Amino acid sequence: MTPHVVPDPQAGAAVKAADRAHVFHSWSAQGLIDPLAVAGAEGSYFWDYDGNRYLDFTSGLVYTNIGYQHPKVVAAIQEQAAKLATFAPAFAVDVRSEAARLIAERTPGDLDKIFFTNGGAEAVENAVRMARLHTGRHKVLSAFRSYHGATSTAINLTGDPRRWASDTGSAGVVRFWAPFLYRSPFYAETEQQECERALAHLEDTIAFEGPGTIAAIILETIPGTAGIMTPPPGYLTGVREICDKYGIVFVLDEVMAGFGRTGKWFAAEHFDVVPDLMTFAKGVNSGYVPLGGVAISERIAATFETRPYPGGLTYSGHPLACAAAVATIQVMEDEKVVENAARIGETVLGPGLRELAERHPSVGEVRGTGVFWALDLVRNKETREPLVPYNAAGEANAPMAAFGAAAKKNGLWPFVNMNRTHAVPACNVTDDEVKEGLAALDAALTVADEHT
Ligand code: PMP
Repeated sequence: MTPHVVPDPQAGAAVKAADRAHVFHSWSAQGLIDPLAVAGAEGSYFWDYDGNRYLDFTSGLVYTNIGYQHPKVVAAIQEQAAKLATFAPAFAVDVRSEAARLIAERTPGDLDKIFFTNGGAEAVENAVRMARLHTGRHKVLSAFRSYHGATSTAINLTGDPRRWASDTGSAGVVRFWAPFLYRSPFYAETEQQECERALAHLEDTIAFEGPGTIAAIILETIPGTAGIMTPPPGYLTGVREICDKYGIVFVLDEVMAGFGRTGKWFAAEHFDVVPDLMTFAKGVNSGYVPLGGVAISERIAATFETRPYPGGLTYSGHPLACAAAVATIQVMEDEKVVENAARIGETVLGPGLRELAERHPSVGEVRGTGVFWALDLVRNKETREPLVPYNAAGEANAPMAAFGAAAKKNGLWPFVNMNRTHAVPACNVTDDEVKEGLAALDAALTVADEHT
């Protein structure tokens, strides 16, 4: 595929100059960044004004699950804009009802009521509020090595170093260690040990905090931003049992792992577990228009049958976002996008990454499923010393910066976070695109190898 625009560096320079003058960017020291000026995007690729094209192995921020500019979704948004561009949330609107139905039909178990938000963090905020009101309790347990969003409660719940700068320590958030065998917080040597010790640690945490004070436990089904760490068999069902034992609401955050990313509609299906509340966003409509939400079980929904739910957002269930969701879900069914993600993971991406790990001394571990993979980069495979320290977020990070630059030089836009790179292409990525991405990763890892 070739870029659809004739290179125009002057236009690119103007876009960038205006950006630097007026756009305040997320997570950045404003004076130290140099954002790429994007001229266009289609499918798995985007391109700049200089004629460089990149294979997007980040899916934006892990959300363009059907790639860029899918014509059916673009058309659905245009049609909805012409028909009814907006309408307030307190009304029944056809496209909102349809989006809720399609989502509820795909979420596991009895998660059949949908509260719409504009994104993931708001979904987490509302899930926590629902859990607190449902239980009449205050505390929420969340895992280290997690990401739940950047709003006030969501960032408090987040267990990675990006929290530090804005964490005011909101009352009631208690963090625990979730399982991660490669860097086991429990010094475990097998998956089974890791699972047993993680569950015992969680139950101890509950005992010492006071079970009657805990409203919810929130977990990403497969923690994403923190490293794509698939929990061992039995862990999530074990957490489910602990929640039932103590009357704690179980919240699974599927903002990143949901809507096809892992080769199932929702990652919870891999573990045969049904939470009480499930947050989603990103892949629900591939982010063509901001949308997120909470899928609510019958039990929690019943709390708010006669008692009002004290929460809402002006743009909840926005018709344009819902039209994009209806069209995206339809595309995912028609084009077997979820099946494609599963097949690609099993036959091309997973085996390809494992093959890279064998040849490159900098790759400590490969883990993932579907189109949701992480490479844990190390200085030394034996000691597993990370290539850069864990607190390197936002700090000078020379080895990973060199890795990223090499990937881009080879036409691949990589995800880089601390000592990891994630291979998270669109769920409808093709075999050839994945092979192209693996070749670029191969070249970039050679640069990372220099730091081992
Ligand atoms: N939860 C998870 C698991 C996420 O990965 C993210 C975003 N990366 C969020 C919540 C927050 O979503 P948003 O940025 O849409 O607020």
